[in-house]
Order: sequence, then C-alpha cells, then structure tokens
Amino acid sequence: MRFGAALLSKPIPPADTRVVFLDRDGVINRRRPDHVKSWAEFEFLPGVLQTLAELTRLAIRLVIVTNQSAVARGLLEPRELARLHARMTAEIRAHGGELAAIYVCTHLPDAGCKCRKPGTGLFRRAAADLRIPLEGSVMIGDSPTDEEAARSVGCRPILVGSAQPAHGTQTAPDLAAAAVLVRAFLAREQRELC
Ligand SMILES: [Mg+2]
Ligand SMILES: [Zn+2]
Repeated sequence: MRFGAALLSKPIPPADTRVVFLDRDGVINRRRPDHVKSWAEFEFLPGVLQTLAELTRLAIRLVIVTNQSAVARGLLEPRELARLHARMTAEIRAHGGELAAIYVCTHLPDAGCKCRKPGTGLFRRAAADLRIPLEGSVMIGDSPTDEEAARSVGCRPILVGSAQPAHGTQTAPDLAAAAVLVRAFLAREQRELC
C-alpha cells in the first residue's frame, strides 16, 4: 500500500535546498553604465546587506548569476573581478549574510556563449555544482534578460527596479521588497505542504 505516492509525486524541496538566484548589478549594487570596474565603484544598494542576512537566516541559499562583459571588454582583469567578489562576499558575511556561490559570464554580448543571460548556462552550472533544483527556485533580477533566463529554467522571476516586466512577473521596488515576496511565497508553499 503506497497511497502517499500520488500526493508526493511533486515533492517540495527541503528547506536547505531552497535557492534564490540573484543578479548583481541593479539588485545587490548600484549599476553603472560604464561597468563596475573596481571596488571603489562598487556601491551596495540600500537595505541589501540586511536583506541578504535575513534570507540567510531563513536557510535560503543565495547564488549570484551575473553578466560581466567588462572582463572581455578589457576593462577589468579576471583576477580583479575575483578580488572584488571576495570583498563583496566578506562584506555580506560581516553583516550576517552568506553567499553559496557566484557564477559569472565574462563574455561579450555577441560572443555566442551559452552562459550570458538570457542564456541559461550559469543557472545550469549552479544546479549541477550545488545539486540544487532550478524548478521552483526564485530569481531576483532587474532586467528582462534576467526574467527570460529565469523562465527558461523554470525559476520564478521577480523584477526589481524600473524594468517593464512581461505578463505575470512579480515586481518589487528593491531587494528588500522582493524578499517580502519570497517569504510570502515560501510560507504559502509550506501551508500547501501541511
Ligand atoms: Mg542587472
Ligand atoms: Zn558567457
């Protein structure tokens, strides 16, 4: 007798595999038209450090997926980008937040790579490396390419800032507000489980 089988056919991932994918520029830090090329140009957006700490306390794994063509453009050495991300990670950690990983596409927009969003390569690499589900995860971004990439892999997109979302995509003014939506979504999922 296995009557639980039908009910359990679509298991909800356990809390420790809940993932929120985050775009970087325009979500974590202020975006610059001329690219963020150094730590001096990196500016956390208001409320971000607190929000990342809060999501970490909810046992959500935070994975950054970011296009950084500044590297292929020769504006930033890969080593510099790695240092910048190490400082960013340390700053986030000092405030109680934890990043599970950072995945970067360093290619030019016309390079034809599979990783630059709206391509899905970064998401797929994260899923394989971290053994995390894409389906049912959340992606918070600030541009239509984030939204498109998220939808392609079955993630639920949330758009922050002023980009015009496609039909059905949730929007929020900033990461803190997006986190409120994430909490509501998780709480609803939890209720459905009970
Ligand atoms: Mg962005
Ligand atoms: Zn790429």
